[in-house]
Amino acid sequence: MADFDLAIIGGGINGAGIARDAAGRGLKVLLVEQNDLASGTSSASTKLIHGGLRYLEHYWFRLVREALTEREVVLRMAPHLVRPLRFVLPHEPGMRPAWMLRIGLFLYDHLGGRKILPGTRTIDLSRDALGAPLKGRYRYGFEYSDCQADDSRLVVLNALDAAERGAVIRTRTRCVRAERSDVWQLVLEVRGRRDVKSARALVNAAGPWVGLFEQTVLQRPPSEELRLIKGSHIVLHRLFDHDRAYIFQTPDGRVVFALPFECDFTLVGTTDQNFAGDPAGVAPSADEIGYLCNVVNDHFRTTIAPADVIWSFAGVRSLQDDGSNKPQDTPRDYVLALDDEAAPLLTVIGGKITTFRRLAEAALDELAPVLGTRPAWTAKSRLPGGDFPVDGVEQLIAETRASFPFLAEAQARRMVHAYGTRVPRVLGDARTPADLGPVLGADLTGAEVRYLMDQEWAQTADDVLWRRSKLGLRFAREERARLGTFMADAIGNRGAR
Ligand code: FAD
Repeated sequence: MADFDLAIIGGGINGAGIARDAAGRGLKVLLVEQNDLASGTSSASTKLIHGGLRYLEHYWFRLVREALTEREVVLRMAPHLVRPLRFVLPHEPGMRPAWMLRIGLFLYDHLGGRKILPGTRTIDLSRDALGAPLKGRYRYGFEYSDCQADDSRLVVLNALDAAERGAVIRTRTRCVRAERSDVWQLVLEVRGRRDVKSARALVNAAGPWVGLFEQTVLQRPPSEELRLIKGSHIVLHRLFDHDRAYIFQTPDGRVVFALPFECDFTLVGTTDQNFAGDPAGVAPSADEIGYLCNVVNDHFRTTIAPADVIWSFAGVRSLQDDGSNKPQDTPRDYVLALDDEAAPLLTVIGGKITTFRRLAEAALDELAPVLGTRPAWTAKSRLPGGDFPVDGVEQLIAETRASFPFLAEAQARRMVHAYGTRVPRVLGDARTPADLGPVLGADLTGAEVRYLMDQEWAQTADDVLWRRSKLGLRFAREERARLGTFMADAIGNRGAR
Protein backbone atom coordinates (compact mmCIF):
# COMPACT_ATOMS: atom_id res chain seq x y z
CA MET A 1 0.00 0.00 0.00
CA ALA A 2 1.46 3.38 -1.00
CA ASP A 3 1.18 6.47 1.24
CA PHE A 4 -0.38 8.43 -1.64
CA ASP A 5 -2.19 7.75 -4.90
CA LEU A 6 -0.40 10.61 -6.61
CA ALA A 7 2.78 12.53 -5.82
CA ILE A 8 3.43 15.76 -7.72
CA ILE A 9 6.80 17.45 -7.99
CA GLY A 10 6.50 21.22 -8.36
CA GLY A 11 4.29 23.82 -6.71
CA GLY A 12 3.82 26.02 -9.77
CA ILE A 13 0.49 26.50 -11.51
CA ASN A 14 0.61 23.10 -13.19
CA GLY A 15 1.51 21.09 -10.09
CA ALA A 16 -0.96 22.99 -7.89
CA GLY A 17 -3.72 22.70 -10.53
CA ILE A 18 -3.22 18.94 -10.86
CA ALA A 19 -3.12 18.55 -7.05
CA ARG A 20 -6.41 20.42 -6.70
CA ASP A 21 -8.17 18.48 -9.44
CA ALA A 22 -6.90 15.11 -8.15
CA ALA A 23 -7.79 15.87 -4.51
CA GLY A 24 -11.27 16.93 -5.62
CA ARG A 25 -11.66 13.52 -7.29
CA GLY A 26 -11.00 11.85 -3.96
CA LEU A 27 -7.38 10.82 -4.60
CA LYS A 28 -4.74 10.91 -1.86
CA VAL A 29 -2.35 13.59 -3.11
CA LEU A 30 1.10 14.80 -2.09
CA LEU A 31 2.53 18.00 -3.62
CA VAL A 32 6.17 18.84 -2.97
CA GLU A 33 7.75 22.20 -3.75
CA GLN A 34 11.46 22.78 -3.16
CA ASN A 35 11.03 26.47 -2.40
CA ASP A 36 7.88 28.57 -1.97
CA LEU A 37 4.70 27.97 -3.98
CA ALA A 38 4.94 29.83 -7.32
CA SER A 39 8.60 30.61 -6.74
CA GLY A 40 9.43 29.39 -10.28
CA THR A 41 7.94 30.55 -13.58
CA SER A 42 4.43 30.87 -12.20
CA SER A 43 5.21 34.17 -10.48
CA ALA A 44 7.21 35.51 -13.42
CA SER A 45 4.62 35.44 -16.19
CA THR A 46 3.11 38.42 -18.00
CA LYS A 47 0.04 37.70 -15.83
CA LEU A 48 -2.38 37.40 -18.71
CA ILE A 49 -5.26 35.01 -18.95
CA HIS A 50 -5.38 35.16 -22.69
CA GLY A 51 -5.85 33.25 -25.91
CA GLY A 52 -2.55 34.56 -27.30
CA LEU A 53 -3.40 36.77 -30.28
CA ARG A 54 0.14 36.38 -31.67
CA TYR A 55 -0.24 32.59 -31.76
CA LEU A 56 -2.84 32.86 -34.53
CA GLU A 57 -0.19 33.76 -37.09
CA HIS A 58 1.53 30.46 -36.25
CA TYR A 59 -1.79 28.65 -36.82
CA TRP A 60 -1.73 27.30 -33.22
CA PHE A 61 -5.52 27.13 -33.36
CA ARG A 62 -5.96 24.28 -30.84
CA LEU A 63 -4.05 26.20 -28.18
CA VAL A 64 -5.74 29.52 -28.94
CA ARG A 65 -9.23 28.01 -28.91
CA GLU A 66 -8.61 26.18 -25.63
CA ALA A 67 -7.02 29.25 -24.03
CA LEU A 68 -9.81 31.59 -25.21
CA THR A 69 -12.41 29.22 -23.77
CA GLU A 70 -10.50 28.92 -20.50
CA ARG A 71 -10.30 32.72 -20.13
CA GLU A 72 -13.91 32.95 -19.06
CA VAL A 73 -13.80 29.68 -17.08
CA VAL A 74 -10.88 30.99 -15.01
CA LEU A 75 -12.50 34.43 -14.71
CA ARG A 76 -15.62 32.84 -13.18
CA MET A 77 -13.50 30.62 -10.99
CA ALA A 78 -11.64 33.50 -9.37
CA PRO A 79 -13.30 36.85 -10.10
CA HIS A 80 -11.24 38.44 -7.33
CA LEU A 81 -7.86 37.47 -8.88
CA VAL A 82 -8.75 37.68 -12.55
CA ARG A 83 -10.09 40.82 -14.19
CA PRO A 84 -11.16 41.64 -17.72
CA LEU A 85 -8.71 43.92 -19.47
CA ARG A 86 -9.08 45.78 -22.77
CA PHE A 87 -5.99 45.89 -25.00
CA VAL A 88 -5.16 48.65 -27.46
CA LEU A 89 -3.34 47.40 -30.54
CA PRO A 90 -2.14 50.40 -32.55
CA HIS A 91 -1.88 49.89 -36.29
CA GLU A 92 1.82 50.36 -37.05
CA PRO A 93 2.63 51.50 -40.57
CA GLY A 94 5.08 49.03 -42.15
CA MET A 95 4.19 46.16 -39.79
CA ARG A 96 1.34 43.63 -39.99
CA PRO A 97 -1.26 45.10 -42.39
CA ALA A 98 -4.65 46.20 -41.09
CA TRP A 99 -6.53 43.42 -42.96
CA MET A 100 -4.37 40.83 -41.18
CA LEU A 101 -5.05 42.38 -37.76
CA ARG A 102 -8.78 42.50 -38.55
CA ILE A 103 -8.90 38.81 -39.54
CA GLY A 104 -6.87 37.84 -36.48
CA LEU A 105 -9.14 39.81 -34.15
CA PHE A 106 -12.27 38.40 -35.83
CA LEU A 107 -11.00 34.88 -35.16
CA TYR A 108 -9.98 35.88 -31.64
CA ASP A 109 -13.49 37.16 -30.95
CA HIS A 110 -15.19 34.04 -32.29
CA LEU A 111 -12.95 31.01 -31.68
CA GLY A 112 -13.50 30.60 -27.96
CA GLY A 113 -17.24 30.93 -27.31
CA ARG A 114 -16.91 34.37 -25.68
CA LYS A 115 -19.86 35.22 -23.39
CA ILE A 116 -18.68 37.74 -20.81
CA LEU A 117 -15.94 39.74 -22.48
CA PRO A 118 -16.79 42.45 -25.03
CA GLY A 119 -15.59 42.10 -28.63
CA THR A 120 -13.19 44.14 -30.75
CA ARG A 121 -13.73 47.75 -31.82
CA THR A 122 -11.71 50.09 -34.00
CA ILE A 123 -10.41 53.27 -32.37
CA ASP A 124 -9.30 56.56 -33.81
CA LEU A 125 -6.06 57.07 -31.93
CA SER A 126 -5.66 60.61 -33.24
CA ARG A 127 -8.80 61.66 -31.30
CA ASP A 128 -9.42 59.04 -28.62
CA ALA A 129 -7.86 59.62 -25.18
CA LEU A 130 -6.26 56.17 -25.51
CA GLY A 131 -4.01 57.63 -28.23
CA ALA A 132 -2.83 60.51 -26.00
CA PRO A 133 0.09 58.72 -24.25
CA LEU A 134 1.37 57.38 -27.58
CA LYS A 135 3.68 58.89 -30.18
CA GLY A 136 1.83 60.98 -32.78
CA ARG A 137 2.39 58.59 -35.71
CA TYR A 138 -0.58 56.38 -34.86
CA ARG A 139 -3.81 57.12 -36.70
CA TYR A 140 -5.96 54.20 -35.64
CA GLY A 141 -5.88 50.92 -33.81
CA PHE A 142 -8.05 48.17 -32.38
CA GLU A 143 -9.30 47.46 -28.89
CA TYR A 144 -9.94 43.82 -27.89
CA SER A 145 -10.47 41.80 -24.71
CA ASP A 146 -8.35 39.49 -22.61
CA CYS A 147 -7.86 39.16 -18.84
CA GLN A 148 -5.15 39.88 -16.29
CA ALA A 149 -4.55 37.77 -13.19
CA ASP A 150 -2.40 37.57 -10.12
CA ASP A 151 -0.41 34.54 -11.27
CA SER A 152 1.21 33.58 -7.97
CA ARG A 153 -2.00 33.93 -5.96
CA LEU A 154 -3.71 31.70 -8.50
CA VAL A 155 -1.13 29.04 -7.63
CA VAL A 156 -1.55 29.55 -3.88
CA LEU A 157 -5.34 29.33 -4.11
CA ASN A 158 -5.10 26.12 -6.11
CA ALA A 159 -2.86 24.68 -3.40
CA LEU A 160 -5.20 25.95 -0.69
CA ASP A 161 -8.22 24.36 -2.36
CA ALA A 162 -6.26 21.14 -2.84
CA ALA A 163 -5.36 21.13 0.87
CA GLU A 164 -8.97 21.79 1.86
CA ARG A 165 -9.89 18.74 -0.23
CA GLY A 166 -7.34 16.61 1.61
CA ALA A 167 -4.07 17.04 -0.33
CA VAL A 168 -0.82 17.27 1.61
CA ILE A 169 1.15 20.33 0.48
CA ARG A 170 4.83 20.37 1.48
CA THR A 171 6.74 23.53 0.63
CA ARG A 172 10.50 23.97 1.09
CA THR A 173 10.67 20.24 0.44
CA ARG A 174 12.89 19.01 -2.35
CA CYS A 175 12.54 15.64 -3.99
CA VAL A 176 16.13 14.38 -4.27
CA ARG A 177 15.60 10.76 -5.28
CA ALA A 178 12.77 8.76 -6.81
CA GLU A 179 12.94 4.97 -7.06
CA ARG A 180 10.48 3.08 -9.13
CA SER A 181 9.02 -0.40 -8.70
CA ASP A 182 5.29 -1.14 -8.56
CA VAL A 183 5.09 2.14 -6.60
CA TRP A 184 7.35 5.22 -6.37
CA GLN A 185 9.60 5.69 -3.33
CA LEU A 186 10.43 9.37 -3.02
CA VAL A 187 13.24 10.74 -0.91
CA LEU A 188 12.34 14.23 0.25
CA GLU A 189 14.73 16.71 1.82
CA VAL A 190 13.42 19.32 4.26
CA ARG A 191 15.97 21.60 5.95
CA GLY A 192 18.66 18.93 5.78
CA ARG A 193 16.33 16.23 7.13
CA ARG A 194 15.27 13.31 4.91
CA ASP A 195 11.88 11.71 4.71
CA VAL A 196 10.57 8.90 2.45
CA LYS A 197 7.07 8.77 0.99
CA SER A 198 5.55 6.35 -1.48
CA ALA A 199 3.00 6.98 -4.23
CA ARG A 200 1.26 4.91 -6.89
CA ALA A 201 1.92 7.51 -9.60
CA LEU A 202 4.32 10.42 -10.02
CA VAL A 203 3.88 13.71 -11.89
CA ASN A 204 6.97 15.69 -12.88
CA ALA A 205 5.60 19.26 -12.98
CA ALA A 206 8.97 20.85 -12.26
CA GLY A 207 8.52 23.55 -14.95
CA PRO A 208 11.90 24.70 -16.25
CA TRP A 209 13.57 22.10 -13.99
CA VAL A 210 11.67 19.28 -15.68
CA GLY A 211 14.72 18.06 -17.61
CA LEU A 212 17.07 18.52 -14.65
CA PHE A 213 14.68 16.46 -12.51
CA GLU A 214 14.74 13.69 -15.13
CA GLN A 215 18.53 13.69 -15.31
CA THR A 216 19.46 14.09 -11.67
CA VAL A 217 16.58 12.64 -9.65
CA LEU A 218 15.03 10.10 -11.99
CA GLN A 219 18.39 9.42 -13.66
CA ARG A 220 16.85 8.69 -17.03
CA PRO A 221 17.13 10.20 -20.49
CA PRO A 222 14.76 13.08 -21.26
CA SER A 223 11.25 12.04 -22.35
CA GLU A 224 11.16 14.89 -24.91
CA GLU A 225 13.63 17.27 -26.57
CA LEU A 226 13.31 20.43 -24.51
CA ARG A 227 14.01 24.06 -25.20
CA LEU A 228 14.28 26.59 -22.35
CA ILE A 229 13.15 30.11 -23.16
CA LYS A 230 13.60 33.08 -20.89
CA GLY A 231 11.36 36.15 -20.80
CA SER A 232 11.91 39.35 -18.82
CA HIS A 233 9.68 42.17 -17.59
CA ILE A 234 10.21 45.62 -16.13
CA VAL A 235 7.95 47.62 -13.81
CA LEU A 236 7.80 51.41 -14.10
CA HIS A 237 5.84 54.21 -12.49
CA ARG A 238 2.52 54.45 -14.30
CA LEU A 239 3.00 55.49 -17.93
CA PHE A 240 -0.69 56.29 -18.56
CA ASP A 241 -3.77 57.25 -16.55
CA HIS A 242 -6.41 54.82 -17.81
CA ASP A 243 -7.16 51.17 -17.14
CA ARG A 244 -6.42 49.71 -20.62
CA ALA A 245 -3.30 47.89 -21.75
CA TYR A 246 -1.23 48.34 -24.92
CA ILE A 247 0.18 45.64 -27.16
CA PHE A 248 2.98 46.77 -29.46
CA GLN A 249 4.50 45.08 -32.50
CA THR A 250 8.27 45.30 -32.66
CA PRO A 251 10.45 45.19 -35.80
CA ASP A 252 11.94 41.82 -34.71
CA GLY A 253 8.50 40.17 -34.91
CA ARG A 254 7.81 40.06 -31.15
CA VAL A 255 4.95 41.68 -29.35
CA VAL A 256 5.52 43.65 -26.14
CA PHE A 257 2.79 44.47 -23.62
CA ALA A 258 2.46 47.58 -21.44
CA LEU A 259 -0.06 46.69 -18.74
CA PRO A 260 -1.62 48.57 -15.86
CA PHE A 261 -0.12 46.98 -12.74
CA GLU A 262 -0.95 47.29 -9.05
CA CYS A 263 -2.74 50.66 -9.48
CA ASP A 264 0.33 52.90 -9.62
CA PHE A 265 2.61 51.04 -12.01
CA THR A 266 3.03 49.80 -15.58
CA LEU A 267 4.36 46.32 -16.34
CA VAL A 268 6.27 46.03 -19.62
CA GLY A 269 7.32 42.73 -21.18
CA THR A 270 8.37 40.42 -22.48
CA THR A 271 11.55 39.42 -24.19
CA ASP A 272 12.14 35.91 -25.58
CA GLN A 273 15.64 34.42 -25.40
CA ASN A 274 17.11 30.94 -25.45
CA PHE A 275 18.29 29.90 -22.00
CA ALA A 276 20.72 27.29 -20.71
CA GLY A 277 21.61 26.28 -17.17
CA ASP A 278 19.80 26.22 -13.84
CA PRO A 279 16.71 28.44 -13.87
CA ALA A 280 17.11 29.22 -10.15
CA GLY A 281 17.93 32.89 -9.69
CA VAL A 282 17.24 33.81 -13.33
CA ALA A 283 17.18 37.60 -13.74
CA PRO A 284 16.75 40.07 -16.61
CA SER A 285 20.02 41.05 -18.29
CA ALA A 286 21.00 44.69 -18.83
CA ASP A 287 20.40 44.10 -22.57
CA GLU A 288 16.84 42.91 -21.99
CA ILE A 289 16.08 45.85 -19.70
CA GLY A 290 17.53 48.21 -22.32
CA TYR A 291 15.47 46.52 -25.05
CA LEU A 292 12.21 46.97 -23.10
CA CYS A 293 13.05 50.61 -22.28
CA ASN A 294 13.62 51.19 -26.01
CA VAL A 295 10.23 49.68 -26.82
CA VAL A 296 8.64 52.11 -24.34
CA ASN A 297 10.53 55.03 -25.87
CA ASP A 298 9.60 53.98 -29.41
CA HIS A 299 5.88 53.93 -28.64
CA PHE A 300 5.11 56.35 -25.79
CA ARG A 301 5.64 60.09 -25.67
CA THR A 302 7.34 59.66 -22.28
CA THR A 303 11.03 58.82 -22.34
CA ILE A 304 12.47 56.42 -19.79
CA ALA A 305 15.88 54.97 -19.00
CA PRO A 306 16.96 51.78 -17.19
CA ALA A 307 17.40 53.89 -14.01
CA ASP A 308 13.59 54.40 -14.01
CA VAL A 309 12.97 50.67 -13.62
CA ILE A 310 11.50 50.04 -10.16
CA TRP A 311 11.44 46.27 -10.31
CA SER A 312 12.26 43.65 -12.92
CA PHE A 313 11.86 39.90 -13.09
CA ALA A 314 12.49 37.04 -15.46
CA GLY A 315 11.04 33.57 -15.91
CA VAL A 316 11.98 30.51 -17.92
CA ARG A 317 9.61 28.15 -19.66
CA SER A 318 10.40 24.66 -20.83
CA LEU A 319 8.85 23.88 -24.17
CA GLN A 320 8.98 20.95 -26.51
CA ASP A 321 11.74 21.76 -29.01
CA ASP A 322 10.44 21.68 -32.59
CA GLY A 323 13.69 23.08 -34.01
CA SER A 324 12.29 26.59 -34.63
CA ASN A 325 14.94 29.20 -35.35
CA LYS A 326 13.51 31.94 -33.15
CA PRO A 327 12.50 31.39 -29.51
CA GLN A 328 9.18 33.21 -30.12
CA ASP A 329 8.30 30.65 -32.85
CA THR A 330 8.55 27.62 -30.52
CA PRO A 331 5.04 26.19 -29.93
CA ARG A 332 3.55 27.20 -26.56
CA ASP A 333 1.23 24.21 -26.34
CA TYR A 334 1.70 21.73 -23.50
CA VAL A 335 2.80 18.13 -23.83
CA LEU A 336 2.00 15.37 -21.35
CA ALA A 337 4.38 12.44 -21.70
CA LEU A 338 3.23 9.25 -19.98
CA ASP A 339 5.58 6.40 -19.17
CA ASP A 340 3.59 3.55 -17.65
CA GLU A 341 6.14 0.75 -17.93
CA ALA A 342 6.05 0.35 -14.14
CA ALA A 343 4.49 2.77 -11.61
CA PRO A 344 3.40 5.57 -13.95
CA LEU A 345 5.37 8.74 -14.52
CA LEU A 346 3.69 11.69 -16.17
CA THR A 347 5.96 14.51 -17.39
CA VAL A 348 4.44 17.96 -17.94
CA ILE A 349 6.13 20.15 -20.54
CA GLY A 350 5.07 23.72 -21.25
CA GLY A 351 1.59 24.93 -20.43
CA LYS A 352 0.23 28.35 -19.74
CA ILE A 353 -1.18 29.94 -16.60
CA THR A 354 -4.38 30.34 -18.67
CA THR A 355 -4.81 26.65 -19.45
CA PHE A 356 -3.76 25.10 -16.11
CA ARG A 357 -7.24 23.72 -15.42
CA ARG A 358 -7.50 21.94 -18.77
CA LEU A 359 -3.95 20.66 -18.41
CA ALA A 360 -4.87 19.20 -15.01
CA GLU A 361 -7.92 17.47 -16.49
CA ALA A 362 -5.81 16.06 -19.32
CA ALA A 363 -3.20 14.84 -16.80
CA LEU A 364 -5.85 12.97 -14.82
CA ASP A 365 -7.25 11.46 -18.01
CA GLU A 366 -3.76 10.13 -18.78
CA LEU A 367 -3.49 8.62 -15.31
CA ALA A 368 -7.04 7.23 -15.24
CA PRO A 369 -6.02 3.67 -16.24
CA VAL A 370 -4.01 3.45 -13.02
CA LEU A 371 -5.82 5.80 -10.65
CA GLY A 372 -9.35 5.11 -11.85
CA THR A 373 -11.83 7.22 -13.79
CA ARG A 374 -13.55 9.77 -11.64
CA PRO A 375 -15.64 12.60 -13.05
CA ALA A 376 -14.01 15.92 -13.91
CA TRP A 377 -15.37 18.66 -11.63
CA THR A 378 -13.39 21.88 -12.00
CA ALA A 379 -15.11 23.52 -15.00
CA LYS A 380 -17.75 25.19 -12.85
CA SER A 381 -15.80 25.29 -9.60
CA ARG A 382 -14.69 28.33 -7.60
CA LEU A 383 -11.31 28.91 -6.06
CA PRO A 384 -11.21 29.93 -2.38
CA GLY A 385 -12.76 33.38 -1.97
CA GLY A 386 -14.10 33.35 -5.54
CA ASP A 387 -17.66 32.36 -4.64
CA PHE A 388 -19.34 35.58 -5.80
CA PRO A 389 -20.68 36.81 -9.16
CA VAL A 390 -18.18 37.44 -11.91
CA ASP A 391 -19.13 41.14 -12.03
CA GLY A 392 -19.47 41.44 -8.25
CA VAL A 393 -16.08 42.79 -7.15
CA GLU A 394 -17.28 46.35 -6.54
CA GLN A 395 -20.27 45.07 -4.56
CA LEU A 396 -17.99 42.87 -2.48
CA ILE A 397 -15.67 45.81 -1.78
CA ALA A 398 -18.68 47.86 -0.62
CA GLU A 399 -19.88 45.01 1.63
CA THR A 400 -16.40 44.53 3.04
CA ARG A 401 -16.16 48.23 3.88
CA ALA A 402 -19.58 48.09 5.51
CA SER A 403 -18.48 45.15 7.70
CA PHE A 404 -15.07 46.67 8.47
CA PRO A 405 -15.66 50.45 8.31
CA PHE A 406 -12.17 51.22 9.56
CA LEU A 407 -10.59 49.86 6.36
CA ALA A 408 -9.44 52.53 3.91
CA GLU A 409 -10.91 52.22 0.42
CA ALA A 410 -7.57 51.20 -1.13
CA GLN A 411 -6.91 48.61 1.57
CA ALA A 412 -10.39 47.07 1.20
CA ARG A 413 -9.90 46.98 -2.56
CA ARG A 414 -6.51 45.30 -2.31
CA MET A 415 -7.77 42.75 0.20
CA VAL A 416 -10.90 41.86 -1.79
CA HIS A 417 -8.78 41.34 -4.90
CA ALA A 418 -6.50 39.04 -2.88
CA TYR A 419 -8.94 37.12 -0.65
CA GLY A 420 -12.39 37.66 -2.19
CA THR A 421 -15.13 36.50 0.17
CA ARG A 422 -12.48 35.32 2.64
CA VAL A 423 -11.50 38.81 3.82
CA PRO A 424 -13.43 38.21 7.09
CA ARG A 425 -11.22 35.16 7.73
CA VAL A 426 -8.16 37.41 7.45
CA LEU A 427 -9.53 40.20 9.62
CA GLY A 428 -11.34 38.01 12.17
CA ASP A 429 -13.46 39.96 14.64
CA ALA A 430 -11.35 43.13 14.40
CA ARG A 431 -13.34 46.27 15.15
CA THR A 432 -10.56 48.85 15.06
CA PRO A 433 -7.25 49.17 13.16
CA ALA A 434 -5.44 48.38 16.42
CA ASP A 435 -7.12 44.94 16.48
CA LEU A 436 -5.13 44.04 13.34
CA GLY A 437 -1.78 44.31 15.10
CA PRO A 438 1.20 46.33 13.91
CA VAL A 439 1.30 47.92 10.46
CA LEU A 440 4.44 46.41 8.95
CA GLY A 441 4.64 48.62 5.87
CA ALA A 442 2.17 50.00 3.27
CA ASP A 443 -1.20 48.67 4.54
CA LEU A 444 0.03 45.23 5.57
CA THR A 445 -0.94 44.35 9.13
CA GLY A 446 0.17 41.67 11.55
CA ALA A 447 -3.25 39.97 11.24
CA GLU A 448 -2.83 39.56 7.48
CA VAL A 449 0.70 38.22 7.82
CA ARG A 450 -0.45 35.70 10.45
CA TYR A 451 -3.24 34.57 8.11
CA LEU A 452 -0.74 34.13 5.26
CA MET A 453 1.55 32.12 7.52
CA ASP A 454 -1.24 29.96 8.99
CA GLN A 455 -3.30 29.39 5.83
CA GLU A 456 -1.13 30.06 2.79
CA TRP A 457 2.32 28.57 3.61
CA ALA A 458 4.11 31.95 3.75
CA GLN A 459 7.38 31.66 5.67
CA THR A 460 9.55 34.58 4.58
CA ALA A 461 9.14 38.28 3.84
CA ASP A 462 9.57 37.58 0.10
CA ASP A 463 6.77 35.00 0.19
CA VAL A 464 4.45 37.73 1.49
CA LEU A 465 5.79 40.70 -0.49
CA TRP A 466 6.21 39.11 -3.92
CA ARG A 467 4.07 35.96 -4.12
CA ARG A 468 1.08 36.43 -1.74
CA SER A 469 0.92 40.10 -2.73
CA LYS A 470 2.98 42.63 -4.68
CA LEU A 471 3.46 44.85 -1.65
CA GLY A 472 7.20 44.54 -2.27
CA LEU A 473 6.68 47.45 -4.69
CA ARG A 474 5.68 49.63 -1.74
CA PHE A 475 7.99 48.41 1.01
CA ALA A 476 11.19 50.17 2.06
CA ARG A 477 14.25 48.08 2.92
CA GLU A 478 13.80 48.61 6.71
CA GLU A 479 10.14 47.62 6.49
CA ARG A 480 11.12 44.43 4.69
CA ALA A 481 13.61 43.64 7.44
CA ARG A 482 10.97 44.35 10.10
CA LEU A 483 8.50 42.03 8.36
CA GLY A 484 11.19 39.32 8.26
CA THR A 485 11.76 39.71 12.00
CA PHE A 486 8.01 39.67 12.70
CA MET A 487 7.66 36.40 10.74
CA ALA A 488 10.74 34.81 12.31
CA ASP A 489 9.35 35.67 15.77
CA ALA A 490 5.97 34.19 14.83
CA ILE A 491 7.68 30.96 13.68
CA GLY A 492 9.75 30.93 16.91
CA ASN A 493 6.65 31.43 19.08
CA ARG A 494 4.87 28.60 17.25
CA GLY A 495 7.83 26.32 17.90
CA ALA A 496 7.85 27.29 21.58
CA ARG A 497 4.16 26.46 22.01
P1 FAD B 1 6.85 26.51 -12.38
O1 FAD B 1 5.94 27.60 -12.01
O2 FAD B 1 8.24 26.87 -12.70
O3 FAD B 1 6.81 25.45 -11.22
C1 FAD B 1 7.72 24.37 -11.14
C2 FAD B 1 8.11 24.23 -9.69
O4 FAD B 1 8.82 23.00 -9.51
C3 FAD B 1 9.04 25.33 -9.20
O5 FAD B 1 8.37 26.12 -8.23
C4 FAD B 1 10.24 24.58 -8.64
O6 FAD B 1 10.77 25.17 -7.47
C5 FAD B 1 9.68 23.19 -8.41
N1 FAD B 1 10.68 22.12 -8.41
C6 FAD B 1 11.63 21.89 -9.35
N2 FAD B 1 12.37 20.81 -9.00
C7 FAD B 1 11.89 20.35 -7.82
C8 FAD B 1 12.25 19.27 -6.95
N3 FAD B 1 13.28 18.46 -7.22
N4 FAD B 1 11.53 19.08 -5.81
C9 FAD B 1 10.50 19.92 -5.50
N5 FAD B 1 10.14 20.96 -6.29
C10 FAD B 1 10.81 21.17 -7.44
N6 FAD B 1 1.17 31.96 -19.38
C11 FAD B 1 -0.01 32.61 -19.43
O7 FAD B 1 -1.06 31.97 -19.45
N7 FAD B 1 -0.09 33.97 -19.48
C12 FAD B 1 1.02 34.75 -19.51
O8 FAD B 1 0.91 35.98 -19.53
C13 FAD B 1 2.29 34.10 -19.51
N8 FAD B 1 3.40 34.84 -19.54
C14 FAD B 1 4.62 34.22 -19.49
C15 FAD B 1 5.76 35.00 -19.53
C16 FAD B 1 7.01 34.39 -19.42
C17 FAD B 1 8.24 35.22 -19.46
C18 FAD B 1 7.10 32.98 -19.27
C19 FAD B 1 8.45 32.34 -19.12
C20 FAD B 1 5.97 32.20 -19.25
C21 FAD B 1 4.71 32.81 -19.36
N9 FAD B 1 3.54 32.07 -19.35
C22 FAD B 1 2.32 32.69 -19.41
C23 FAD B 1 3.59 30.61 -19.20
C24 FAD B 1 3.46 30.21 -17.74
O9 FAD B 1 3.97 31.18 -16.87
C25 FAD B 1 4.20 28.91 -17.47
O10 FAD B 1 3.94 27.98 -18.47
C26 FAD B 1 3.79 28.31 -16.14
O11 FAD B 1 3.97 29.24 -15.10
C27 FAD B 1 4.60 27.05 -15.87
O12 FAD B 1 4.17 26.55 -14.64
P2 FAD B 1 4.80 25.22 -14.05
O13 FAD B 1 3.99 24.85 -12.87
O14 FAD B 1 4.96 24.22 -15.11
O15 FAD B 1 6.30 25.65 -13.66
